[in-house]
Amino acid sequence: MKSLNVVTLTAAIVVFSCFAAGQVGKTEITKWQDGKNGAVSLTYDDGSINQFRVAVPIMDNFGLPATFFIITGEIPGSRYHGTFVGRPTKAIIAETSNTPTNKDNFFERASAIGFLGYKGTIEYHTRAGELYDEGKNAEQAYRVLDEGYEKVRKGAFPPDVAHDNSSENGKHITWDELRALANRGYEFASHTVTHPRMAVLDDANLVYELEMSRQEILDQLGFKHTFSVECPYGTENDRAVQGALLRYQLTRNYMPDSDVDDLDRSNDMDPATSRKEYVRWQRGPLTETPMELMKSWVDKTAGQGNIWLVLVFHGVDGIGWKPKTGADLKNYFSYIKSREQSLWVATFQDVAKYLRERQHGTVTSYRDGEIISVVLRSDLTNLSYDLPLTLKTHVPDEWKIVEIQQGEKRKQVDVLQSNGAKYVLYQAAPNAEVVKLSRVTQTQ
Ligand SMILES: [Zn+2]
Repeated sequence: MKSLNVVTLTAAIVVFSCFAAGQVGKTEITKWQDGKNGAVSLTYDDGSINQFRVAVPIMDNFGLPATFFIITGEIPGSRYHGTFVGRPTKAIIAETSNTPTNKDNFFERASAIGFLGYKGTIEYHTRAGELYDEGKNAEQAYRVLDEGYEKVRKGAFPPDVAHDNSSENGKHITWDELRALANRGYEFASHTVTHPRMAVLDDANLVYELEMSRQEILDQLGFKHTFSVECPYGTENDRAVQGALLRYQLTRNYMPDSDVDDLDRSNDMDPATSRKEYVRWQRGPLTETPMELMKSWVDKTAGQGNIWLVLVFHGVDGIGWKPKTGADLKNYFSYIKSREQSLWVATFQDVAKYLRERQHGTVTSYRDGEIISVVLRSDLTNLSYDLPLTLKTHVPDEWKIVEIQQGEKRKQVDVLQSNGAKYVLYQAAPNAEVVKLSRVTQTQ
């Protein structure tokens, strides 16, 4: 009968230790990097020169990262420039003399008109594109092309000389300068080869704009900078967006992920009303946007918990569309910096990767004596998804400092406490070695 008592006692101890260990080792992927309460990405469109001459030194000063959507064909030394992919343009021009523009020839004509060898014809592409894309006013768009082609036939435009940026010295950033910025942590992304109205390009030219700007960036800056694209004018044209998503991991103006509410710059929905896991909240500070409003976006992001604030800048200090002054940027970035305790400020691709890796991630953990082992897996197969994620692991009450080891990497972190629970926060790479947590015993 004595042995029975022993068995009962052992069972009781096992149950007790399970209960005590219930929290210990429990691990989750935090919603944002480093356990922050929201994320902010600074993004710039069009690559105008003061983004680099004025905004970059300010961001350097605060240590803030940013992402630049660049028009690759405009940069001196680029291999791929604006061109028409298709039949000889002479044949297209000849046809316009007896066949008015209609739904069957519209896309070819709209794609070609900017690249007929004359100065000034690209305006007709842009105007027809705007009418078609934003108003869906096809008939009016056709008439704009008819007018443009008629002028071409009458010789109203001067011939365009071969592409030569040398006379524009200092107007454009160079690939050498961009490479240096990339090496310092700034991200670059595609804003196509020529900034066209993609909704009115035919398939061959749509593909050229997306693939050749990607190829140029790949050759000049490397794979890391081919993650995303911004289709010009924020178009949500389905053909453009689907074409972009076939060739890039993400477009800035459209995020299809089911767990993300995607609010573009013209969407007035209050992100506080979203019920989704994340809200991608795009806001575009323009010349006339009050500083107080801009700061309120940051406050909301720091306070709410599920917002990724994507700020979209264009011109800076007089150059580019609706420019902000350098003084305003300095004031604003200083404000963002002051909220860094609650905000994760990161490049566009890093935040997108974090959200997706977390959504596709699984974490398992087990405790063996004084060691807690954690396994972080993700089922994303694209090579881009290599961002380390922040894990939160509960540790025993008596632990004060913990050594985190994953492969060759070792780091010591302090134990934190909230609501009586003790835990550590640390970063771990997905699909890599098992992470080992062990207590660091201090010697007096
Ligand atoms: Zn643009």
